[in-house]
Amino acid sequence: MWFAVITLFPEMFEAITSYGISGRAAKRDLVQLTCINPRDFAEGNYRRVDERPFGGGPGMVMMAEPLAKAIKHAKQLAMQAGKNQVPVVYMSPQGKTLNEQAVKEFVEYDGLIILCGRYEGVDERLIQKYVDQEWSIGDYVLSGGELPAMVLLDSVIRRLPDAMSDMQSAEQDSFVDGLLDCPQYTKPDCFEGLDVPEVLKSGHHLNIEKWRFLQRYQRTLDRRPELVEKFELTKQKKKWLKKQDSSES
Ligand code: SAM
Repeated sequence: MWFAVITLFPEMFEAITSYGISGRAAKRDLVQLTCINPRDFAEGNYRRVDERPFGGGPGMVMMAEPLAKAIKHAKQLAMQAGKNQVPVVYMSPQGKTLNEQAVKEFVEYDGLIILCGRYEGVDERLIQKYVDQEWSIGDYVLSGGELPAMVLLDSVIRRLPDAMSDMQSAEQDSFVDGLLDCPQYTKPDCFEGLDVPEVLKSGHHLNIEKWRFLQRYQRTLDRRPELVEKFELTKQKKKWLKKQDSSES
């Protein structure tokens, strides 16, 4: 998948292209990531990209012109790379909150142009003219859009076909089918007096699958009951839940 990130701090994105699943995806060319610095499109000796807000008040605002030029350049690069479906996404605390469903939909695009704000944000007219979607990573404010952009990138990249090996399959992760993940255990068998549940060492695949499902269901019910309401149970899973209820009563 193709990405262009518009940022005043391109070096920060080495965290994505050099490490872990996203780093491996970049090395295998499953991901092409270009950073575009709006300063390269700014005028004057000082290459200013920010100015005081009209109406007064604290802080600075990112100017529309260098950002517009950077976005146009990103769109040109996308075209040259043969990418047609490439929305411009502005990371903003005022956007829709990112979730797994949105991530799944992002994977369907040919690419993304991601705009990272700084200071008090960007001139509203730039958003009106050039931004297709605004996304937030949660109801709190960070100093810049780089970390939110990296959150978006990482979540999308790990969902690309072939980005993860079978061992790391994303299918069992929290939210993917609507429930939270089950508890995980590894060696040793006993840690500070706590044993690994026997069933996980039994080698009985169906019992393990059943145990994991019941754990996921109960965990979601305890922590995020609203997710359970939307979860569709298969016949088999209904049976497992019924059996558990009758053995408890
Ligand atoms: N004054 C802005 C407001 O209250 O909406 C916040 C500006 S913030 C200090 C600077 C930049 O950080 C924003 O333009 C945005 O790109 C990014 N940012 C901060 N918090 C974010 C969040 N929760 N999700 C996505 N981006 C965020």
